[in-house]
Amino acid sequence: MLNFFNYTLKDLQDLLIENGFKKFNAQQVFDWVYKKFETNFNKMSNLSKSLITWLNENMHISCLSEEIKLVSKDGTTKFLFKLEDGNKIETVLMNFDYGNSICVTTQVGCNMGCKFCASGQLKKIRNLEAAEIVMQVYHLNKYLHEKGEDLIRNIVVMGIGEPLDNYENLSKFLNIVRDDHGIGIGSRKITVSTCGLVNRFDDWIRDFPQVGLAISLHAPNNEIRSKIMPINNAYNINDIISNVNKYIKATNRRITFEYILIDGINDSDACAHELAELVKGILCYINLIPWNPVDNTTFKRSHNVRRFYEVLRKHGITATVRQEKGSDINSSCGQLRAKNEKK
Ligand code: SF4
Repeated sequence: MLNFFNYTLKDLQDLLIENGFKKFNAQQVFDWVYKKFETNFNKMSNLSKSLITWLNENMHISCLSEEIKLVSKDGTTKFLFKLEDGNKIETVLMNFDYGNSICVTTQVGCNMGCKFCASGQLKKIRNLEAAEIVMQVYHLNKYLHEKGEDLIRNIVVMGIGEPLDNYENLSKFLNIVRDDHGIGIGSRKITVSTCGLVNRFDDWIRDFPQVGLAISLHAPNNEIRSKIMPINNAYNINDIISNVNKYIKATNRRITFEYILIDGINDSDACAHELAELVKGILCYINLIPWNPVDNTTFKRSHNVRRFYEVLRKHGITATVRQEKGSDINSSCGQLRAKNEKK
């Protein structure tokens, strides 16, 4: 069976035409699914009987099954979904003053092994298909629609998994969610975060020059970075900086460096000065993230967030401290799934 959520409007038009239907039929189905949130072909009242029969025989609109939903005091909502094969993934809905934002997952588990991350403790089982990533956005849009709230306006690809390690499905997902006839979220409202798989940067620059890119840097030098991020042994900070320069030259877009502050590891004033020197002159901003505790690590939360930020500012580096969302519901990436898998 074909999965509806793997299709852009254009792809569905081609498929329906190939099977003897009309181009406009694809738009009809899209309107039912994306505007009216109807997923039962039999209820799509303006479709011909023959089209409904064909759709029922050849295509399914699968839905995620919601296992757990935790709502934080600040409105952040964390979902644990069960996929058709029984694997579980997390998705987070956050409300900012610029609108609702979703953090999606791209893999079941992750092989990058970052020491501060709950997802890295559960190895990658498989990549998500494009449809499974799209379904996270669709499910949350449906949830918001039923509550009479505004739909999702921003997507961050920062959940479980390394997106550039699942490049083909990520690409397909980005093409589907940017399609104006469906979910319709513009390139500039989407940010993809990578731990630094710079081997994919040429593809990224060619395919998605307008989609935001964030790099998980988390250290000002290779010595610290290698201790907390094994990927640094394959692509180190020098590789990252040279590829970032290439990216900025090609796209003229500002890049985001994410920096999780961990007590005694990467949060000293000296680290802040070193980081400022490293990124000086690069069109970037630094997103400082207070580390959220996860089980099975000896790391502690930094008490130097404000000072670290001030040091960067004194160097003229643009930085922000990420607004903490859902701290009362363990909203750090992977924690809900990690706890659930251990039961
Ligand atoms: S931080 Fe991201 S890349 Fe690193 S282990 Fe966690 S999910 Fe994977």
